[in-house]
Amino acid sequence: MKIAVMPGDGIGPEVVGQAVRVLKALGDHAPMEMNHALVGAAAIEKTGIALPAETLELARKADAILFGSVGGPLDELPDRSKRPGTALLTLRRELGLFANFRPAFLFPELIGASSLRPELVRGLDLIILRELNGDLYFGEPRGIGKTPDGRRAGTNTMYYTEDEIARIAHVGFQTARQRKGKLCSVDKANVLETMHLWREVVTEIGRDYPDVELTHLYVDAAAMALMRTPTKFDVIVTGNVFGDILSDEAAMLTGSIGMLPSASLGKDRTGLYEPVHGSAPDIAGQNIANPLAAILSAAMMLRYSFDQPVAADRIERAVRAVLADGYRTADINEAGTTRLGTIEMGDEVVAALKRQEA
Ligand code: NAD
Repeated sequence: MKIAVMPGDGIGPEVVGQAVRVLKALGDHAPMEMNHALVGAAAIEKTGIALPAETLELARKADAILFGSVGGPLDELPDRSKRPGTALLTLRRELGLFANFRPAFLFPELIGASSLRPELVRGLDLIILRELNGDLYFGEPRGIGKTPDGRRAGTNTMYYTEDEIARIAHVGFQTARQRKGKLCSVDKANVLETMHLWREVVTEIGRDYPDVELTHLYVDAAAMALMRTPTKFDVIVTGNVFGDILSDEAAMLTGSIGMLPSASLGKDRTGLYEPVHGSAPDIAGQNIANPLAAILSAAMMLRYSFDQPVAADRIERAVRAVLADGYRTADINEAGTTRLGTIEMGDEVVAALKRQEA
């Protein structure tokens, strides 16, 4: 198992460091080769670019990428190519990673940390499947220009071809088939032509999956339903922009964005695994970030890229055991629990893994 490790910026190195320790603690059960590479602001500082050629090369040769987060003050630079965030967009594009799986699963132990009342979130277990290669983030034309009378005007283009929509729709139906068999496609077909096409294509593809129950929601209604009846969802498939927003909303249902892993997959098994959260500059360097999203991302990597469900289960069970023992980082801390730092949380997960062997 060849893994490219890209810690990135802010809390990225702190949380990825713990995920690497947990992977190593699996020992001989899961032999792996890990190579570290610079990315984001950390790479700009050393090389002047956010995604150096060596990093891209390492990513191409790897079976999977364990990614932290990128971003920071340089995000505001007018030249987009100099911003740390472009590294991730380029990696997704270059590796053809078009399907972003963002599970929102509520550990029963964290029910009190959810932003909704327990009776609304008990049993929450959904996946948001976000298309990653198209939409407003990549559509052309784009940019800030001038109107004929000299005022500044910004343009972005919502763009999807039918094959891009069909590709992600197939993944959505296949994912739903392996779960509870329910797929909700989220669009804005009532206002946007691109989204009208989205709905048409998803409906057409749905005819190949008669065993999957397909529903459609406008994105505004979906945002509301996620707050009112989140446990009714199984798999949500949506475009790049709506998926970006809805998955952060869903994150809060699980207690903290520090709990949510993600996987980005393409045509083959090579995937990029990262916590849903960003570089969190407000808490970076203080040993208070929650490393569980990164650790659970490593578990997703074992399951999706390496076909190692037993090792993935072991990590998830270890996380569960640590939560059941009442250990919490600051973001999920409640009365009656023991507050730990990032490294100490890593220690506890490693200890729980070792206990499984005893
Ligand atoms: P963020 O996810 O970094 O932080 C949002 C809030 O959640 C902050 O209050 C932060 O302290 C908290 N938080 C995040 N992760 C946490 C963790 N593991 N434990 C405890 N608390 C946690 O989002 P933001 O503040 O909007 O963005 C900060 C930077 O990260 C920006 O530069 C942004 O561009 C970048 N970003 C990168 C990625 C990525 O690399 N995939 C994703 C999102 C944002």
